[in-house]
Amino acid sequence: MSAVNLTRLSRHPLHVTVLDDRGSVGRGIAYGVRRPEYLLNVAARNMSALPDEPDHFLQWLHTRAEFEQTPDVELRERFIPRQIYGDYLRSIVAHHLQSPGELTLATAQFVTGTAVDVEPARAGCLVHLADRSVLPADRVVLATGNEPPAPLPGSADLTDHPAWIGDPWDVWETRLPPSDGDIVILGTGLSAVDAVVTLRELGWLGRIHAVSRHGWFPHAHFRGIDYPEFPPPGVDLAELGLRELQSLVAEHCSALHERNENPAIIVDKLRPHTQRIWAGFTDDEKVAFAKETAARWNVFRHRIAPVIHAQVTGSRLTGQLGVHAAGIARVSAAGRNRVDVELDDGATLTGDLVINATGPSTRLSATRSALLQNLLRRGAVASDAVDMGVRIDADHTVVDAAGERSPWLLAVGPMLRGTYWETVAVPELRFQARRVAETVLGATHDERGEVAPQLEYMI
Ligand SMILES: Cc1cc2nc3c(=O)[nH]c(=O)nc-3n(C[C@H](O)[C@H](O)[C@H](O)COP(=O)(O)OP(=O)(O)OC[C@H]3O[C@@H](n4cnc5c(N)ncnc54)[C@H](O)[C@@H]3O)c2cc1C
Repeated sequence: MSAVNLTRLSRHPLHVTVLDDRGSVGRGIAYGVRRPEYLLNVAARNMSALPDEPDHFLQWLHTRAEFEQTPDVELRERFIPRQIYGDYLRSIVAHHLQSPGELTLATAQFVTGTAVDVEPARAGCLVHLADRSVLPADRVVLATGNEPPAPLPGSADLTDHPAWIGDPWDVWETRLPPSDGDIVILGTGLSAVDAVVTLRELGWLGRIHAVSRHGWFPHAHFRGIDYPEFPPPGVDLAELGLRELQSLVAEHCSALHERNENPAIIVDKLRPHTQRIWAGFTDDEKVAFAKETAARWNVFRHRIAPVIHAQVTGSRLTGQLGVHAAGIARVSAAGRNRVDVELDDGATLTGDLVINATGPSTRLSATRSALLQNLLRRGAVASDAVDMGVRIDADHTVVDAAGERSPWLLAVGPMLRGTYWETVAVPELRFQARRVAETVLGATHDERGEVAPQLEYMI
């Protein structure tokens, strides 16, 4: 979407290259074609990819045969299959980047490959690819998305083990054990939900064990009530600090409990303020929140479609899905075809298939991306104050290890967790994608005016 915004907004000749290692530009990991049963976890009304056209996704949906007759009031609240959202993004790519029309001054190209480094050059920089080819660029936008889950103690020895899946977004459904087997899912968040839903869809009848420290699955979306009492009038949530904010939230959650209402309403009321609150926290408060409160926050914040929630609940009610609240101490091979998961409460679960669905790794200094490792090593990017992502300025320009604004690097998306906290879902990302494009275009125009075609490379 950053590339799309560049071409939409450019008033000057511009060349955009979208470099992606998966090929199908727009789908990324979230909106791939792999499994049709996955639904968006945000209602259609809030999934426009364009911040200046809030109904863009709804209008696009109405052009599809299956939704053409669906009343708008109903379509707005639907949780659409993620594959279809991928179709939507692909159609935007096709419209704006592949056949942009005569009025657009920008041109675009797509390169399938893996970036491993970006180095300064005499003018601009050079993007190095794993196949040793090189792309020159004036600006580079890092948009590499979520990292795979962090390794677990012992998992390095399991890389080639047939019962170990280190990344839940890899294809694992072709490796299912027989129906009297056991599958252990490590984690109870959104990727664990995907795994349960797929196992149901495939009619797999064996036992599923899900493990996480707290054992909480995400909650379902619900229709809230009007609750004007929060935030209390005259209170600036961003100035409270973590502890005072937590006690205010606790107070209002119990007030809602007493009214027999869902306390998650408070999370919704916090949403418009989240980024400002996060920016107002000290570094210690950010670390404390991530350690102590984030898991609880996530179950209320990352809610899922009621129909998906019903499937997970169904599996729990029938006893197929058992949930274990414990930490994961170690994973190890149990012979050639099974994997043991030792829990910190002393129990051991043995799986014919064990899936690491503990969520994306969020420690930049431990990144497994060769690109980010190389950029970090040379100081071209630096960790933010809490090491959750890369350090940027307000306009998304990367701030390097020397504290200087990078002349050619910008960043967008999940790698900005330390800066924004909320930086994974479309409702936030669409603004970032536009902001990045504005920065690139502003900088380009200020420095160079209307000169020969500019080169811009997107990663
Ligand atoms: C499973 C899942 C479901 C989600 N569901 C929803 C939802 O329902 N609603 C919602 O609002 N949000 C959802 N999200 C969150 C959000 O929409 C995605 O995280 C978002 O797609 C992130 O976009 P991105 O472009 O930053 O990263 P991605 O979409 O992950 O794209 C990054 C791309 O860069 C490629 N790449 C990475 N490194 C390199 C490299 N070195 N060289 C070349 N290419 C590279 C990756 O392979 C990938 O194709 C979901 C996320 C996931 C993971």
